[in-house]
Amino acid sequence: MNGFIGIDLGGTQLRVAVADARGTVKSVIRVDTEARRGPDHVIDHIVETIDRALAKSKQGRRGVAAIGIGLPGPLNGATGMVYSPANLPGWHNVPLGKILTRRTGIRTFLEHDASLAAFGEWRRGAGKGRRHMAYVTVSTGIGAGFILQGQLYRGAGGIAGELGHIVIQPGGPLCTCGNRGCLEALASGTAIARMARDAVAGRARTSLRGLEGPNRPDARDVNQAAKRGDAVARRVLDQAGTALGVGLGTLVNLLNPELILLGGSVMKAGGLIRTPMKASMKASSWEAARGGLRIVPPALGQDVGLIGAVEWARDNV
Ligand SMILES: [Zn+2]
Repeated sequence: MNGFIGIDLGGTQLRVAVADARGTVKSVIRVDTEARRGPDHVIDHIVETIDRALAKSKQGRRGVAAIGIGLPGPLNGATGMVYSPANLPGWHNVPLGKILTRRTGIRTFLEHDASLAAFGEWRRGAGKGRRHMAYVTVSTGIGAGFILQGQLYRGAGGIAGELGHIVIQPGGPLCTCGNRGCLEALASGTAIARMARDAVAGRARTSLRGLEGPNRPDARDVNQAAKRGDAVARRVLDQAGTALGVGLGTLVNLLNPELILLGGSVMKAGGLIRTPMKASMKASSWEAARGGLRIVPPALGQDVGLIGAVEWARDNV
């Protein structure tokens, strides 16, 4: 009993890592989640992929002390219950922790994917040694996880960390969660693409018009156009950055973190999004709450969720 398995279950990709007793990842298998085929199929697929990953590193199930698995919420890590994640169709109150424990014979601990990313960065990445930190990722959606007083903060029912769904603009654009004006509906890659398409549908003069292919312009098109000096693209990023700053300012006043790890594809726009973000963050938080605060990129790259899942398994045994 000396190894661990970390799993990152996303709507499109399923990743399984086998790690040694110290948490060093020895092998990783990445496959399509096949989410459209529903929970029973996905669970079979997870179990098969675990066995393939173990075979690849020449281990058996008996050598594994615990499994950690991160997936999109809402879920309750304490009970192992997955409610109904938006990008896992057909899932509704699935006791995934219990099912995987029974099917594999290995104790399984599940947690929100963004929380495990935060946990991974805290244990092995840019957040090492911190007592109070936030991890925020801004890409298609906005995810966040919090380490407070030196531990992962999960809330009473496991739902804590939904920074993307705090309301920034009452009555604003419709969010994927069903509410209006959430941070995610104003500052995510999806929101940036929507604002750009709205501008194109109007009369604005912009190089974003007439791009070929479905679902364009997208957030990447906006980044590129903004870097070329397109005024409409710049305005879109300015609005998104301003909304993001209000969200981060709220976070800072509420939790007074010493560190925010801020990453995700949207942040690749650099100063075009950071400058308005910093200005509105300053205007929406107290100087005292920002004292000593550092905002830096995460360190662990695309496998952060897997590393976090391995560390979560190690932490629970
Ligand atoms: Zn929302």
